[in-house]
Amino acid sequence: MSTSSTTPDAIVYEAVDLKKEYDGGSVRALRGVNFRIHQGEFVAIIGQSGSGKSTLLQMLGALDHPTSGVLKYRGKSITEYADPASYRAHEIGFIFQAFHLLPTFTAVENVQMPMFETPVGVAARRARAVELLRSVGLEHRFDHFPTKLSGGERQRVAIARSLANGPSVLLADEPTGNLDSENARHVLDLLTRLHREQNMTLILVTHDPVIAQQAQRRIQMKDGQIVPETPTP
Ligand code: ADP
Ligand code: MG
Repeated sequence: MSTSSTTPDAIVYEAVDLKKEYDGGSVRALRGVNFRIHQGEFVAIIGQSGSGKSTLLQMLGALDHPTSGVLKYRGKSITEYADPASYRAHEIGFIFQAFHLLPTFTAVENVQMPMFETPVGVAARRARAVELLRSVGLEHRFDHFPTKLSGGERQRVAIARSLANGPSVLLADEPTGNLDSENARHVLDLLTRLHREQNMTLILVTHDPVIAQQAQRRIQMKDGQIVPETPTP
């Protein structure tokens, strides 16, 4: 478990004039974005396709570098991390629309993947994966390969995997985008339960207004900028 998640209203992320350009500046995906996200918040990032949502999530997860501006995680500039892979492995759980499970590994093996970068031993690793799969309701699917699982089950394996190292932040990019409405509801229920029960900071990209309404707050992107939120009545 992350030790840094105790202060209830600690600022987890702070962005100041954050910019990201691609292709030598011809694509301006983030055009000066400012925000703060607090410990334990559930924030939805919304906006049309191409508005910069995934780019923003990639910056938060240190999957890519900003072009300019400041992005801090718990007060420390993410771009100054000597080892971004360690930050990703220990602080962050990622969930993607396309699940990104490894096809030649079973469910219980996929969940263990993030633990290979840690000193956790073989038996403890498997036991933790089993426990995580149970917690997402997949106790009957341990030894199944991804192709033998439904979309909703695959995403639940991916969620279990994202939790393997006890992250304090979950970054989810359209996690229900490939699912039918029933499976989408199941996955969303699971994410909101994790947020509630484990005080996880949940940052979820979606273009679905119904899902966005479940969040405590919405950050709306348009053309690489944040649209100021109008308060809900
Ligand atoms: P969203 O997730 O809201 O659909 P993205 O963050 O994926 O938007 O993309 C924002 C803009 O940046 C789009 O114009 C997209 O084409 C562009 N973009 C995203 N990733 C890259 C990349 N790796 N190279 C060049 N352009 C990119
Ligand atoms: Mg996207």
